[in-house]
Amino acid sequence: MASVELQGIGKRFGELSVIADLDLKIDEGEFVVFVGPSGCGKSTLLRMIAGLEDVSGGHLRIGGREVTDLDPAKRGVAMVFQSYALYPHMSVRDNMGFALSIDGTPAGEREERVMAAARILKIEHLVDRRPVHLSGGQRQRVAIGRAIVRDPEVFLFDEPLSNLDAALRGEMRMELARLHQRLGATMIYVTHDQVEAMTLADRIVVLDRGRIQQVGHPMDIYGRPDNLFVATFIGSPK
Ligand code: ADP
Ligand code: MG
Repeated sequence: MASVELQGIGKRFGELSVIADLDLKIDEGEFVVFVGPSGCGKSTLLRMIAGLEDVSGGHLRIGGREVTDLDPAKRGVAMVFQSYALYPHMSVRDNMGFALSIDGTPAGEREERVMAAARILKIEHLVDRRPVHLSGGQRQRVAIGRAIVRDPEVFLFDEPLSNLDAALRGEMRMELARLHQRLGATMIYVTHDQVEAMTLADRIVVLDRGRIQQVGHPMDIYGRPDNLFVATFIGSPK
């Protein structure tokens, strides 16, 4: 696990300023959830931490190490996408082990790590299937398993449950909470679902138009909103 420090982070797409001068220190092993309306910059922020998007300004540190210009594969982060982004022509086993095969991990060790992650997620019986033969919930487990296999210090989740129905979403929410306890890794999680935020977060960060509106423990965000935006956003049904 590692801390994640965002210092004066900004992002522009041409004339459009999406994130402005954002400061936040996330502790080792902390579960931090970013919430905010669609288009407020949540995905952009995660993509910058992952290294999939350049920052326009500021500094990014993971475990105290400056990673602002570092190759994504060397940051010790793994990201789980809303779309799952599985390779359709590969088995579950190969999907989960793909990053390890790229970095030259020997086949025996790869198999061990894939199966260990599959056991954690209760998908051992599915490893020979291709994604098309899985349910939505199973695909989501594979996408999470693919991140676990890489043994990252920091997990990044971009609305990972938003394609699941309500019952499955509740089940996976509990699964993610257990995973956090078990792995102890730092988790940065993005959602527009207040229930997910309230149940998973050590701290919630409320974003609006690329600016932090409030950071705090879920009960404080809920019970003592700093401003009207936070009160309205957190108080409104999804
Ligand atoms: P969220 O994930 O909170 O819904 P995003 O981070 O996806 O928001 O987007 C924030 C803003 O940045 C939106 O206005 C979006 O249109 C814009 N944006 C995101 N990616 C790009 C891009 N590659 N080029 C131009 N604008 C972008
Ligand atoms: Mg998004």
